[in-house]
Formats: sequence, structure tokens, C-alpha cells
Amino acid sequence: MQKMRCALCGRDEKPQLLYPESINFERISKETFSARRIPEKVHYRLMRCQRCTLIYSSPILTEDKIKLLYKQSKLTYAEEIPSLKKTYGDYLSKTLPFVNKNPHLLEIGGGNGFFLEKALELGVTKVNGIEPSRSAINAARSDIKKKLIADFFPSEKIKPSSYDIICIFQTLDHVTDPNRFLRACHTALRKNGVVLCILHDTEGLSVKILGEHSPIFDIEHIYLFNKKTLQLIFEKNNFTPLVTFSVVNTFPLRYWIRMFPFPSIIKPLFLSLLQNIHLDNLPLSMRAGNIGIIARKS
Ligand SMILES: [Zn+2]
Repeated sequence: MQKMRCALCGRDEKPQLLYPESINFERISKETFSARRIPEKVHYRLMRCQRCTLIYSSPILTEDKIKLLYKQSKLTYAEEIPSLKKTYGDYLSKTLPFVNKNPHLLEIGGGNGFFLEKALELGVTKVNGIEPSRSAINAARSDIKKKLIADFFPSEKIKPSSYDIICIFQTLDHVTDPNRFLRACHTALRKNGVVLCILHDTEGLSVKILGEHSPIFDIEHIYLFNKKTLQLIFEKNNFTPLVTFSVVNTFPLRYWIRMFPFPSIIKPLFLSLLQNIHLDNLPLSMRAGNIGIIARKS
């Protein structure tokens, strides 16, 4: 196990226990360790820095163990993909006016590359992705597969000053050293390049309603941000925040219900009832607890 400290304050942090550890380490496997699943409150000890409000896991598994779990992880969020594709596409459209014409786009941690499909549809012709999970890459569309690099980021396979936009969706909160990660983004970007980053919000609705049961308190999440700490971590690593925003997610009603911690007996009954009355597919938009930032390399 490795002890962590606030990625913003370092030695000057003022850590406070938020929630004690709730992990049965025997249950951590490649099946449980991958994207979202039904919430079951499995997390490391969670600390909150009283100086800057950043929330972080500590202690955590060693870097090598975490990397191995990600390499073996399976793509488990296929059902959410159409909704995510639309949401991330909308925010890419909002980012494109900030960058040069004909930009080269890199997505970090993009699973099967569904977002790159969307970027191509939106007219971005030069796209690449970097993703550690082999099974996710194998699930990619054949034209996208060629554009995916199988590695963790930072990676020597990413050349400096090569990209105009870097997209990071639900990935920054999985990273054990967000400062190193953002410095590497800075290096990979060309002059005036921008980052579009979307992730969980520690002050979002799901945390307000569900507290410790919020799916954001999860073994995969190392550092968890709010709008303020998200801006600060970008500024600390030589980015100028252009826009910070609350994300509007649209998912079918059954998805919201699955994510909500109803008692396990009620949930399947409720879901099958909805299915019978054909309401399970109803699209529902909510600001449910994701935030984002568009920031320029300075
Ligand atoms: Zn701090």
C-alpha cells in the first residue's frame, strides 16, 4: 500500500478523515475493477484536505498492482455508450472554437474509442487515443483500432508538441499522480493547445443525496475534484482555465435507477415494471454530478 497526500497542497496539506476504508481486498479482481457498475460502496480510506477541499484515497494499492488491474480490465459500460457519445460530442463542439483549424486530437483513456468515432463525425479528421486495456482496444471499430495506442499515459509513444486538443473523460480521477499526468498533457500539446476534461464532482447531486453511497466514492478513484480544485490543479500545471462547467448527462431512465441505491430487492422489480410499461428507455437529462473544464496550455 502507498500513502498519498493532497496533490494541490503537498506538504502543507491539512488532511481530515472523510470515510474509513471499506474494501475487501479479496474481492478486487479484473471483473470488479473496471468502469462503472452497480454501486456497492467499495473504496479506500478517503481523506479530505481542509486547506483546499481536494478529496483523495490513502493509502492505496501500489502503482504496479493498479496498472495490472487496468490492463486486464474489461469494458463494462457498453449500454451507456450512446449517451456518453452524445454528451462528450456536445462538449467537443464547444471546445473546437478554441483551437486551430484542422486540429489533431488525442483522447486519453478512451476505452473502445467510441468518442473518437464521434470526433470523426464532427469533422475532426486527425484523431488518436491511448488506452491501457487490451480488451477495450480489441472491442474498437476496425478503423478506430489503428488509431489507438495500447499504453498508460504518460507514455513515450506520445511525441511532444503533437496535439491541439487532449480529451480526458472520467480518467483524471483514476490517476495516481494528476500533476505528472497534466505536465505530460502540457508537453504533448502544441502551442495554444487545449485540454477538455470531464470528471466526477465531489459537490454534485449524487454526493449530496447519497453521501458515502455515491458511486464517486469508488476504489478506482484516487483524487476527486470540485470545480475549484479542478481549476487549481490545471493552474498548478501551467494551464489557463477558459471555461468550467457542470455537465448535463442524458441517460435512459433505467440507467439512473440502476445507479440509485434502492434496496436490492426493490430494484429489479422496479426495473421490470418500467420495462413492462415501456418507460425504461425514456431519456432523462440531469446535472447529476459531473463537471468539466476547458483549459489552454500557457
Ligand atoms: Zn490541499
